Parts: sequence; structure tokens; C-alpha cells
Amino acid sequence: MADPGQNYTAFNSNALLEFVGDTTDEALSSLRIKQFLSVLAGRFFNWAGRKSLFTLHLGIKCCAIEMAASAIPRFDAERFGVIFRSSPRQSDVLLVNGPISKKFADPVVRLWEQMPEPKYCIAMGECAISGGPYFQSYNILEGVDTVIPVDVYIPGCPPRPEALIDGFGLLREKIIKIGGAPSTGRDGEKPVIVGEEA
Ligand code: SF4
Repeated sequence: MADPGQNYTAFNSNALLEFVGDTTDEALSSLRIKQFLSVLAGRFFNWAGRKSLFTLHLGIKCCAIEMAASAIPRFDAERFGVIFRSSPRQSDVLLVNGPISKKFADPVVRLWEQMPEPKYCIAMGECAISGGPYFQSYNILEGVDTVIPVDVYIPGCPPRPEALIDGFGLLREKIIKIGGAPSTGRDGEKPVIVGEEA
């Protein structure tokens, strides 16, 4: 860091920013305000994140019809903060709603990797959970959890929109429990299964 007492002409804007940043940092650290602010901000982002779970608008097979049904006025998933987005870069949840062929596995993983942390994955329907009717087929994965860590399973063929909304509710509870832990740091956390939570 540049010495603030040095020649005025050599004291450029970057050095000034660094000096102010360091001074503020030291003051905040000594007063423990920094820790307080980081806890407060963490809790605020966790609260805001779980209340607005942006979900990637990805429809793979027939379960996607139920996903679409959950967004119409009859079920209105949006009132629970479930908002479908068309870009992985603005999404928090990857909702896998159909069988993943071995050819489609790479694009799904790429979409997952494009999503920012903390991110969550929901496996909707038997196809996404285990391959469903295509179980042990030559070209279908035996569940999306073979390539991506899954947080919530929603069994059914297909699950109804109410079950999907329930799955998002369980994910919300899980987020409260784990905080903003990234998807790679949840090794001790078991996935939740809709219908088995009692
Ligand atoms: S679980 Fe059933 S309804 Fe869902 S995608 Fe597979 S076959 Fe279709």
C-alpha cells in the first residue's frame, strides 16, 4: 500500500482507495462490526434466496407438463417465490423433470456448472430419480444423481403440481438448515424425499 504521507502527486486514486479500504477494514475489524455485518448479510441473503427460488426453465419430458401446470393460476407456484427463468446464470434451482439420456448428460452438467452458488437440484419424477420406465436401458442414466448432487427427490410418474410445490417447500426448509452452503460442501446433508419427511 502506498504511504499516505508520500509526495502528493504520486498519490493516485488507486492508492487512495486502498488506503481508505484498509483503514475502514481495520476499524471495522477492531470493533467486531465486520463480523456482525457478515452474519447479518448472510442471514439476509439466505432469507431472500429461499423466498425467491429462481428455477431453470428446462422441460425434458412429460413431467415438464406438470411443471408448467404448477405455474398456471390454479396452482400458482409463483406465490411461493418459485419463478421460472430461462437462463442458468440467473437460476438457483435445477429442476430435472425427465429421463437423462447419456447423450444429454453433458449438456445438463454444463447447465448446472453455469449456475451460480449456492445452487440446488430437484429430481422430479421416476425418470429423473432412477430412469423410471427406462431403468437399466442402454442409453438412459439411472438417475440424475449419477452426475449432479440432488437435494430433493419428488417421486411419482408424474408427480402432481402440489407435490412439486411441496418439494420446493422442503427445499426452503433445507436452505434454512444448511444456510448458504455451496453444493460442493453439503456432503453430510441427506437429500429430502417428498412424502417421507414425516
Ligand atoms: S417420470 Fe413418468 S411422467 Fe415423468 S418424465 Fe418419466 S415417464 Fe414421464
